[in-house]
Amino acid sequence: MDNSHLPPDASAETFAAQGGGGHDPETGAVLPAVQFATTYLRDPDNAYSSGYSYRRDDNPNVRQAEAVLRRLEGTDGPALLYSSGMSAAISLFLALPLPARILAPEVMYWGLRQWLKLDGPRHGITTTFVDFADPDAVAAALTQDRPNLVWIETPGNPMWNITDIRSVAAQAHAAGALLACDSTVATPVHTRPLVLGADVVMHSVSKYLNGHSDVIAGALVFAEDGPLAQEAARNRRAMGPNLSPMEAMLLLRGMRTLHLRVRHQSAAALIVAQHFEGHARVEEVLYPGLPGRAGHNVAASQMTGGFGGMLSIRVKGGAAAAISVAAHTKVWTRATSLGGVESLLEHRASIEGEGTPVPDDLLRLSVGLEDVDDLIADLEQALDAFAHV
Ligand SMILES: *Cc1c(COP(=O)(O)O)cnc(C)c1O
Repeated sequence: MDNSHLPPDASAETFAAQGGGGHDPETGAVLPAVQFATTYLRDPDNAYSSGYSYRRDDNPNVRQAEAVLRRLEGTDGPALLYSSGMSAAISLFLALPLPARILAPEVMYWGLRQWLKLDGPRHGITTTFVDFADPDAVAAALTQDRPNLVWIETPGNPMWNITDIRSVAAQAHAAGALLACDSTVATPVHTRPLVLGADVVMHSVSKYLNGHSDVIAGALVFAEDGPLAQEAARNRRAMGPNLSPMEAMLLLRGMRTLHLRVRHQSAAALIVAQHFEGHARVEEVLYPGLPGRAGHNVAASQMTGGFGGMLSIRVKGGAAAAISVAAHTKVWTRATSLGGVESLLEHRASIEGEGTPVPDDLLRLSVGLEDVDDLIADLEQALDAFAHV
């Protein structure tokens, strides 16, 4: 795609809204053609001057989506798309020099925590879990374990704990570690971890970046091209978990409305959180946008324009009450995942299973694009339904 008409200083929002900008130089089409080819013509002199040779390595639609991601994260470093958020994160872990030691949060995306705990050691990767809200605990773990990678997630799923990216970046770098941040929930609309000092950002692109619950994808975006980025790119080429051209195209379409969707979802999430804070049937509302919550000030200093579209509520009456509320909603869909245009809610402890640090009265809410009054009324009637069981 020829995108020369966009001024070089155009904002990431402009760049994303135009799907990377430009038009097809051959046809003038305002969208790129989807290039499905698995193989490319080699030049007579044996070179691959187009830069493409085989689809396991690379594809033009994937490259264009990666270009948008780099702009969104404000970096000149490389971006790598993967066929899931999990494969993006695991590719990074496998790229670490061995023996690899990781420092990760006690509460984080469950699937990755399980991988670090159960699969990591089989690959020579050991992980210490720590509470990142406690700078002394982080300092002690950095000194004791000498990790090569610090992994954070902010806001952290599903309690929405906030980690101070700037200060953890300083701590990690002083201890000789790199900092990676799972920024799936914050999205580049609210937070740019690389600009705040992180070395790598990971996204489950399946969530807000695509935004329509129809693509599974993940991304790594690096502050700079270095050994870690190159090793991740190498293991992606070797194993082939990159994105299909069709999914890259869907993702480019999704990212065109990223800012519009996320701003709306964050504003609506704040309204929902405020409505249920102090509610007679609600034990606690977990949302970093509420001024009283731990982490609110740090969130306000590193999140611009909102606090994200995710919140959780703890329902009075324990697990039975929470599961009953989820069973009685009509507008909210009872399903896992997040970041789509439809609002979802989930009894989180049920999916995480034994050993989860998540309270069993917790419902995780992903606020979509429906009328916020409908969302609130639906939760009200579902809370009421349990009270009358
Ligand atoms: C969903 C999710 C992941 C995993 O991504 P997939 O695309 O489902 O593989 C990782 N981190 C967070 C915060 C997530 O929400």
